[in-house]
Amino acid sequence: MRLLLVEDNPQLAELVQDGLTRQGFAIDRCGSLKDALAARNAASYDLILLDLGLPDGDGMSLVRQLRQANDSIPILILTARGGLNDRLIGLDGGADDYLVKPFEIAELAARCRALLRRPGATLGVVLQLGNVALDSTTRSVSVNDTRIDVPPREVALLEQLLRRSEQVVRRNQLEESLYSFGEDVTPNALESAVSRLRKRLSGAGANIVVRTAHGIGYAVFQQG
Ligand code: CA
Repeated sequence: MRLLLVEDNPQLAELVQDGLTRQGFAIDRCGSLKDALAARNAASYDLILLDLGLPDGDGMSLVRQLRQANDSIPILILTARGGLNDRLIGLDGGADDYLVKPFEIAELAARCRALLRRPGATLGVVLQLGNVALDSTTRSVSVNDTRIDVPPREVALLEQLLRRSEQVVRRNQLEESLYSFGEDVTPNALESAVSRLRKRLSGAGANIVVRTAHGIGYAVFQQG
């Protein structure tokens, strides 16, 4: 998932960039309306994080400009102005959500994911844990925003695990997701598939790990 951060305070911008990068987002940064518009026209983004007080004008003018051009990219406003009027103006003006500074990175990441999960959002339903994302619409898996090659049955397995991340998913349920590919399921088919998935994820630099709950099933966790 690629985000455009428009924020002219370098310390805050760096904090947000570092924090969200650790949560698995790819972030491009700029500090003015002019650069934001240029970046939007030059690259494809899934979400814009927008400060309102920018050196060359008010962030809301960018929101209006994009909406007038029928650009429906989700926009999350980051504002120091906590006043109710500003919030209403932001949402009425076509922004999707706002967060008042100062905020926690975890809260910001959760809001970003919620916006990206909305119906009609560019990515459909994305299951995310650590730096791993699975797009349930395109059936693609990416690590640090780079797509990795995963066979369909392992995508199905990973999907089941990510839908209940940090909880044990039972063996029989996971086996069903393998059966659905019409292959013979030998007694250790699940173990083999999990083992291949583990190698694939660690080989791609994923910071999540599939753990075994002996005799019960498997669970996926973020490492660290
Ligand atoms: Ca500012």
